[in-house]
Amino acid sequence: MSTRSQQYDAQVLRRDRLSPHLLRLVLGGPGLAEFASTGVSDEWVGLVVPGQFQSRYYTVRAWADGELTLDVVVHDVGLVTEWAQRDGAVVGETVTVTEPKGSFLPPADAGWLMLVGDLTALPAMARISSETALPTRIWAEVPERPAGYLPEGVEVTWLAQPGDGQSALAEVVEDLVWPEGPGYFWMAGESAQMRAIRKHLMRERQLPSTAYDVMGYWRGGAQRQPRAVDPGPIWRAGKAAGKSDEQIWADYDAARDHT
Ligand SMILES: Cc1cc2nc3c(=O)[nH]c(=O)nc-3n(C[C@H](O)[C@H](O)[C@H](O)COP(=O)(O)OP(=O)(O)OC[C@H]3O[C@@H](n4cnc5c(N)ncnc54)[C@H](O)[C@@H]3O)c2cc1C
Repeated sequence: MSTRSQQYDAQVLRRDRLSPHLLRLVLGGPGLAEFASTGVSDEWVGLVVPGQFQSRYYTVRAWADGELTLDVVVHDVGLVTEWAQRDGAVVGETVTVTEPKGSFLPPADAGWLMLVGDLTALPAMARISSETALPTRIWAEVPERPAGYLPEGVEVTWLAQPGDGQSALAEVVEDLVWPEGPGYFWMAGESAQMRAIRKHLMRERQLPSTAYDVMGYWRGGAQRQPRAVDPGPIWRAGKAAGKSDEQIWADYDAARDHT
């Protein structure tokens, strides 16, 4: 089975600052002519910026009229973080994106959604909550609230971030009061926090793996990630092997622990 994914060259058409830590990049150009959304609300692409070979992963915030919108969190140091903030550059540059993949899959009987994440998960939580018909609650741990970013009418609990490169989401989830009946729990953020949550959901809450999706989006601790592991091949190989989304994300975390 091939684990190579399709790649597309795209031009940066616009860059807008949505809040101090969130930049919006709008990509376009003829290289995206064959790009096709999966239609899965948390779909992501790999992004390779000029002069680099490594990818970083970003949620497809929107794909419409040939334009691909990615919302990028800028933190202390980082490959994309530093590239995206350069004065007088970025717009007009050519980047590469990979074909999208998504993992958000509520069971057919789900009557509610709980979405939990940090700023890197906010693009996915915004897209999921604007596309779902299910009653949705969001817990967002952010350094600031990007104005008007989440759709009206969604119940949001804003949580302060303990510091750049830090997260306390695991404790928050352990204290949540859960709605009655079957639903779907989606969460993304710092990997160590996500591992703790997976254990909690399996051991304490004893949820079936189809009832939740918990994804490590970034790894705290190191100064610079030596090599980002591409979730795409792990995703495709896991799906081909009949693994659940949860097993695949656990494999992804394990692969990153060995880089
Ligand atoms: C499926 C998926 C979807 C994602 N969607 C988005 C998205 O829509 N928007 C988005 O901004 N990110 C998203 N991420 C997370 C993003 O890929 C990582 O944060 C990535 O490491 C950022 O790359 P960088 O080049 O800026 O920093 P890197 O060069 O990768 O990392 C430099 C150092 O900065 C630290 N670091 C990395 N990320 C953060 C962070 N967010 N906050 C604080 N410290 C950090 C780490 O300690 C790291 O060692 C997603 C990840 C995945 C797997």
